[in-house]
Amino acid sequence: MIAKPLSIGIAGAGIGGLAAAALLARAGHSVEVHDRFARPAPVGSGLVVQPVGRRVLAAIGIEEAALAQGQILSSLLGTSVETNGPVLVAAYGRTPSTKGLALHRSVLFDLLLGAAQDAGARLLPSSEVIGQSANRFTLASGESATYDLLIDASGAGSRLSPLVHRILPFGAIWATVDWVPGAFPEDQLTQRYHYASRMMGVLPIGTPAGATGAKAALFWSLPRDGYADWRQTGLAAWRDTARTHWPEAAGYAEQIIDPDQFTMARYAHGTLLNPVAGNLVHIGDAAHRTSPQLGQGANMALLDANALACALALHPHNLPDALRCYARMRRTHVWGYQSLSAMFTPQYQSDSRALAHLRNRLLYPLSRLWPVPALLARLVQGDLLPPAAGLSRKTAQVAKS
Ligand SMILES: Cc1cc2nc3c(=O)[nH]c(=O)nc-3n(C[C@H](O)[C@H](O)[C@H](O)COP(=O)(O)OP(=O)(O)OC[C@H]3O[C@@H](n4cnc5c(N)ncnc54)[C@H](O)[C@@H]3O)c2cc1C
Repeated sequence: MIAKPLSIGIAGAGIGGLAAAALLARAGHSVEVHDRFARPAPVGSGLVVQPVGRRVLAAIGIEEAALAQGQILSSLLGTSVETNGPVLVAAYGRTPSTKGLALHRSVLFDLLLGAAQDAGARLLPSSEVIGQSANRFTLASGESATYDLLIDASGAGSRLSPLVHRILPFGAIWATVDWVPGAFPEDQLTQRYHYASRMMGVLPIGTPAGATGAKAALFWSLPRDGYADWRQTGLAAWRDTARTHWPEAAGYAEQIIDPDQFTMARYAHGTLLNPVAGNLVHIGDAAHRTSPQLGQGANMALLDANALACALALHPHNLPDALRCYARMRRTHVWGYQSLSAMFTPQYQSDSRALAHLRNRLLYPLSRLWPVPALLARLVQGDLLPPAAGLSRKTAQVAKS
């Protein structure tokens, strides 16, 4: 039981904002979620929720439903054109709970939104948050909204976060296409690289409710300013390049008949020194952003939301203590994964041929030697470092009650 329910305002009804809304409303707080969208409409294609993130989905009560509409991942395989063989192999753990879960972003969004609303959180669409002072959000409408606690979950474009980020040299275009039976194992994320400057990937994402068959997320890396050139080159030329790059994936490339099927995503990297400022706490991409190479962004947002709910339950009488506790819990995991992501990303998305050679000739063979495969498994699972430092399994259940 909480000592005194707080009024909580959340900016952003994305993955972190809705997870926080579900957990905090269920704990008895009064929660309002502001989003700039007029109607809930998740953008994007597929993503992977790693085992640590799945535990948060379980705490929210939506893991079963997510599993029913998603696809379990057992491994990740990257091959290179140069060696015509594997240059990245990572296997998840053997037990079902240590596997990844790939799904369409809209599936995760719908489930989180339903859970938040069922718990009593109020969604306020067309409510863009453009500023904050003390315990008040300033809205684009000219009004303001006052709460005991403000949560900035407004993502990579947050107007409230002081985070300074670096735009990464490569992003990617993403599309949702039909799964092609037999081309690749259905429990594997499969990628193919040409040095590090070209990457194509196929992520199985299961069968979202309403879809007639299984789907996949198809991605193709592009320099951050390369989208206009890609469009100008034309689809026929791109399909030829894709077929030469990765003949086994031709059945995916052929499904792209309109350039608008692809959405360009640009990536950035940066981490806030301290996610807490007075009564305001930044979670998710508003606090830390990076490339999706390690597939941890959605997990980070889910883990932030869960840690915040736990910290508030552990310090029900003292909000500043709760927020300090939250920042302490997440520091090691966030900084560790952000550093690892910064280290790994250029091996797969950069102009450096030297790094690609190093990856193919040295790092990949080393990664097959004991104990690296086990460490790689923990890395992708999201628990190479403790996701919430100082939180025992027992206290981690606080957010469930
Ligand atoms: C192409 C791509 C692939 C990815 N793949 C993966 C993956 O495989 N695994 C993984 O874990 N992560 C992945 N990520 C990262 C992941 O999607 C993000 O890290 C995650 O969505 C962050 O959650 P969030 O809640 O912080 O922000 P978001 O989910 O982006 O939500 C932000 C919300 O805030 C709203 N908003 C923005 N500004 C305002 C405002 N001023 N006022 C009110 N509302 C506002 C937006 O409308 C949005 O609803 C990927 C990202 C991209 C771009």
